[in-house]
Amino acid sequence: MEHYEVVIVGGAAVGSAAAYFLASTPAFDGTLLVLEQDASYQRCATTLSVASVRHQFSTPENIRMSLFGSDFIRQVPTQLAVEGEAPDLAWHEGGYLFLASAAGLGTLCANHRTQRELGAEVQLLDPEALHARLAWLRVDDLAGASLGHRGEGWLDAYALMMALRRKAISLGARYQQARVMQLLRSGSRLQGLLLADGTRIGCGVLINAAGTGAAALARSAGIDLPVQPRKRCVFHVHSPARTPGCPLVIDPSGVYFRPEGEGWLCGVAPSENEDPACEDFEVQHALFDDVIWPALAARVEGFEALRVKRAWAGHYDVNVLDHNMILGAHPQIDNLLFANGFSGHGLQHAPAVGRGLSELVLHRQFRTLDLSRLGWARVLENRPLFELNVV
Ligand SMILES: Cc1cc2nc3c(=O)[nH]c(=O)nc-3n(C[C@H](O)[C@H](O)[C@H](O)COP(=O)(O)OP(=O)(O)OC[C@H]3O[C@@H](n4cnc5c(N)ncnc54)[C@H](O)[C@@H]3O)c2cc1C
Repeated sequence: MEHYEVVIVGGAAVGSAAAYFLASTPAFDGTLLVLEQDASYQRCATTLSVASVRHQFSTPENIRMSLFGSDFIRQVPTQLAVEGEAPDLAWHEGGYLFLASAAGLGTLCANHRTQRELGAEVQLLDPEALHARLAWLRVDDLAGASLGHRGEGWLDAYALMMALRRKAISLGARYQQARVMQLLRSGSRLQGLLLADGTRIGCGVLINAAGTGAAALARSAGIDLPVQPRKRCVFHVHSPARTPGCPLVIDPSGVYFRPEGEGWLCGVAPSENEDPACEDFEVQHALFDDVIWPALAARVEGFEALRVKRAWAGHYDVNVLDHNMILGAHPQIDNLLFANGFSGHGLQHAPAVGRGLSELVLHRQFRTLDLSRLGWARVLENRPLFELNVV
């Protein structure tokens, strides 16, 4: 049986970030295998994401991870260059703008304080100041807004994933296209795994970075991972309207939009009772007609004439306990690390999570950012760590 010191299941943003950080750490000289079932990456969340980065979270760990994420993204052209070829992530620091009604103003201000304390460059604006800045935005029903000035924006998610993957390979990681069917556990140790073609592979440590496939893997090792696939639809729209300086805007209704090429990307999370665990990729066009269009038409002058040019569906891997990731080892199996349940913010957190996973593999503890509150303890003790700014 082949044996690797570290096996990572899932080679998209999180798996490839873990592979890169491990392979680039001088203290790691072990063998590293990344198993990815789909080398085209067509259906993973990373490829289908809206690929945006914000510092405006409520959970301090999420803010810190995003601050690290945007610094990392800036350094990608030098840090992830391979043989002199610098990756181009098309990084655009357009900012995020959270809009608040009177009911949401208290939460906005509380989050703002936490974000500022941690070093995020965000500013509170009253409706008049907001209108002076973005004249195309209707502000009559708003009580305030929070705008990010630095480090927030959007990028090419596929390019980031491929840059991490290429760099990890150049540093010695091996990628193999294969589907993992089962984790092979013996008591409190994972011995290895079984591939779909019947091959068995042994491992010292296994990292579960399988996105919406993570719960099935965990189940095969007797672990109940409270992560479910929840469909999210994205619409690329055009209109004759002009929105100079448009950031990624989060409306109080939950509808978001941001510039993309000649038009805008937009979407909204379905209401909770219309958001079952599901794995199909069918676009919910009614969401656009019934929820998104009315909200955008009311918010932006000229958006009455929005036309959908294309649309797609992807899946969040939602931690149904508290919408925050589950990171680290389960107390029953000490060599199985989890990095799952990103609940819609895993792309921007992939660099920090990848670094954190490499520290767990090498030192069995976090050395840079302490992410231990995001571990299994809160899940097993039913102590949710709620993220309030879920989009
Ligand atoms: C519509 C949408 C919009 C989003 N917008 C944003 C955003 O703006 N900002 C942000 O930060 N995040 C966003 N996200 C979330 C973000 O995309 C994810 O949190 C992140 O990409 C998760 O990365 P991952 O590597 O964990 O999972 P994935 O990208 O899903 O990758 C998991 C990989 O594991 C592989 N795999 C699964 N099971 C197996 C198996 N058994 N064997 C082998 N391989 C396996 C899959 O093929 C896949 O490639 C969005 C997500 C969606 C769907």
